[in-house]
Amino acid sequence: MLKIVVFIKQVPDTGSKAGVNPDGTIDRARAKRMLNPFDKFALQKAVELKRGVGAFVTCVTMGPPPATEVLVEAFEHGADMGVLLTDKRLAASDTLATAYALHMVVRHLGDFDLILTGLQTTDGDTAQVGPQIAERLDVPQVTYCEALSISGNVLSARRVVEGGYQNLEARLPALVTVANSATPLEPKRFADVAAVKEFLRHPEEREKRIKTVSLDVIGANPAHAGLVGSPTVVGKTWKLGEIGGSCALFQGESVEREVEHLLAKLASDGHRITELVNG
Ligand SMILES: Cc1cc2nc3c(=O)[nH]c(=O)nc-3n(C[C@H](O)[C@H](O)[C@H](O)COP(=O)(O)OP(=O)(O)OC[C@H]3O[C@@H](n4cnc5c(N)ncnc54)[C@H](O)[C@@H]3O)c2cc1C
Repeated sequence: MLKIVVFIKQVPDTGSKAGVNPDGTIDRARAKRMLNPFDKFALQKAVELKRGVGAFVTCVTMGPPPATEVLVEAFEHGADMGVLLTDKRLAASDTLATAYALHMVVRHLGDFDLILTGLQTTDGDTAQVGPQIAERLDVPQVTYCEALSISGNVLSARRVVEGGYQNLEARLPALVTVANSATPLEPKRFADVAAVKEFLRHPEEREKRIKTVSLDVIGANPAHAGLVGSPTVVGKTWKLGEIGGSCALFQGESVEREVEHLLAKLASDGHRITELVNG
């Protein structure tokens, strides 16, 4: 059976107000949390493969203990196992340190056929972690993948590029970053949600399905993790103030007429137009 690892990250809810700590990091304690929306596309691909060709789906997340919530959400969508990598020494990891730690989780898990990641996150937003994990594991990678199928040990993927697609093939094991134009995550099925509720009530079952690991357990070198393993220096982070200003709508019988109105308004507001660019 295909062994799939899906990386999912808990991020601050974009609808909530997250503060910024004095050191420039996000004050995650105050923010509401959610599963990174981009990772839902990766999870959907894994679930589709599980139903289509048969697969064992392990979801891995790195974060503080509340990140277990995204593992539970993944179970409710059909994942089989969850791994939480949590360790105080991981705090302030940049993408290099994050990819190091996550690839060590894969090594710790052993054999795998396919790794799926989201395209990027809504907090760090770098889209670097997936490709760095592939490099560290020395496996082929397909980024921006919209559709994929597997036959034997060959992966066929449709990759989104500017203005079109690329059809690629790669030998497994491989890593794929799933584009947000791929199939959206299906709604949870009642049976999956009920099964998750049930196993969460039994501590031994819960422990079997959700593994919590530290740097020591996965055999990672703390010198490559967290702040000490992160060469990135954040110069300054600040919160944007409310953007003020007002908006005027010009509606005329033609674009030319609207532009005339706009120019007249700009002139009456004291602006001087030195050049008009047509086109
Ligand atoms: C100096 C510095 C300090 C930072 N301090 C912190 C901090 O204290 N806490 C913090 O959370 N972030 C911190 N960050 C942000 C952190 O570097 C990134 O969020 C993290 O490295 C992942 O990169 P990304 O979010 O850009 O992921 P991307 O590369 O945009 O993500 C691509 C995909 O990789 C996978 N992925 C990424 N991260 C994880 C994860 N943690 N678990 C599972 N899968 C994942 C997901 O599938 C995701 O869709 C810091 C960054 C810098 C530069």
